Amino acid sequence: MVTDNLEIQVKPVAESRINQVDFDNLPFGRVFSDHMLVMDYKDGEWQAPEIVPFEPIKLHPASSVIHYGQSIFEGMKAYRMENGDVAVFRAYDNAKRFKESAMRLCMPEIPEEVFVKLVNELVKTDKQWIPSSADSALYIRPYLFATDEFIGIKPSDTYKFMIFTCPVGQYYPEPLRVKIEEYYTRAVQGGVGRAKTAGNYAASLYPARLAQKEGYHQLIWTDAIEHKYIEESGTMNIVFVIDNKIISPSEEADTILRGITKRSVLDLANDWGYEVEERRVSVEEIITAIKEGRLQEAFGAGTAATIAHIDVIHHQGTDYKLPEIEGREFSKRVYNELNAIKSGKSEDKFNWIV
Ligand code: PMP
Repeated sequence: MVTDNLEIQVKPVAESRINQVDFDNLPFGRVFSDHMLVMDYKDGEWQAPEIVPFEPIKLHPASSVIHYGQSIFEGMKAYRMENGDVAVFRAYDNAKRFKESAMRLCMPEIPEEVFVKLVNELVKTDKQWIPSSADSALYIRPYLFATDEFIGIKPSDTYKFMIFTCPVGQYYPEPLRVKIEEYYTRAVQGGVGRAKTAGNYAASLYPARLAQKEGYHQLIWTDAIEHKYIEESGTMNIVFVIDNKIISPSEEADTILRGITKRSVLDLANDWGYEVEERRVSVEEIITAIKEGRLQEAFGAGTAATIAHIDVIHHQGTDYKLPEIEGREFSKRVYNELNAIKSGKSEDKFNWIV
């Protein structure tokens, strides 16, 4: 049994690579810190975790993850605070989502305290890799995959849990041009849309590529049955401001990933006294609100960008231009407040910082 007072062996690198890194020009997800964490699962239990030098791993050609995709992951960030401390944002929420993804994919669960402890220990080991410039962070990628050397289809008996980290710079997305997708779908009711599992991302590549060829950055996914209700945008949750109300598709359907950034946006909105509605949001409602000039803001919410403003929504042959980004008070206020909480400038009244 792994518990949160577990011992973690650390095998440090002989020589750090940190001096080779240009922290002023960090591409997203291509620069890797010195260490990674590895914890195997076999004989029905988790083995001792180890922090080791970051390096390629060997896989058996029949490893079941390669063939049948039993693979889940998380994405989270650690920030350097103004007082020099390190803040991992809402780590327990990622731990909980990871557990739920594991359950859906028939994979062994990691207790939430253990997950957070393992993340913290790796971040501590490579804490000099956390960039200090404003808006940059250490991206953390925990993941779990099936390693049985067997090509029969069944839940694997062995797994590997790993974590690595990447220093990432400020994310300057241009305002997004998005297309409402009415044929392909990301997730169906009863499927795995709520789980953060590799196959969801593989399946979304082709429709996203078609939209990119037409000049859009990403898709707005709609429900699989009628393509009438809005679900998410690309790999972000979606939030609208209409008539001063904050509106977002409800996560009750198991087709939407329960995003931690969106939850934080809505928690702040509630706290600030906005009316917040989480419910089904139809395409028709959004297009009507745009036409009537009642849609004030639309944005994607996710760990990578925090807030990604949507500038254009395409629907059935028409590009609808949304209000100018400059005037978007709500999303700008949210973005600034989240940054202030992560850096320690604002009080962490929701206990988000670990
Ligand atoms: N939806 C999908 C499909 C995603 O991959 C992500 C990114 N994890 C999100 C939403 C946003 O989730 P979070 O705010 O927790 O990053």
